[in-house]
Amino acid sequence: MKIGFDLDGIFIDKPPFIPKKLIDRLYGSYDHGLSYRFPSKPEQWIRNITHISLFRPAIWENIQKIKSTCTQNAHHYYLISSRFGFLKARTEYLLNKYELSGIFANIYLNFNNEEPHIFKENILKKLRFDRYIDDDLPLLEFLAKHNPKIVFFWLNKKSNLRLLGNLITTTNLQAILK
Ligand SMILES: [Mg+2]
Repeated sequence: MKIGFDLDGIFIDKPPFIPKKLIDRLYGSYDHGLSYRFPSKPEQWIRNITHISLFRPAIWENIQKIKSTCTQNAHHYYLISSRFGFLKARTEYLLNKYELSGIFANIYLNFNNEEPHIFKENILKKLRFDRYIDDDLPLLEFLAKHNPKIVFFWLNKKSNLRLLGNLITTTNLQAILK
């Protein structure tokens, strides 16, 4: 089975001590949903700073879970992140630092700066994925509607195991990896 994973919110956490309101202002469309706005130069500079590892802690619980299963089961794991091109160096550094680079059969990053939901849909379609895991519900709703053969998982902290057609909500990454 081919399983795709988002990066931010699944393996890398949001900045820990920046108020949520400010994050929403800084990132807006970047972390959520379907509206698309490519950041201006000064914004790119700010975002670059907020993407150093101090502000982007690893979600070790999820990294350990995927690491312990990647050699045991027959699934192939892929990473699909819609991070924009100006974050290339930072992202590659974090993938190494958090021991994520060796886990995936391939890593797809949005370095051509496409709209995040379009970028993800193109990859999922082209490579015929079976499952895809993300923390962004509006994005998943879009993808699930357009790709009925793929099963989508919303990994979140509140709502466990609810079925919405081919979109499943869960709080537990382990359940998805079986
Ligand atoms: Mg995410």
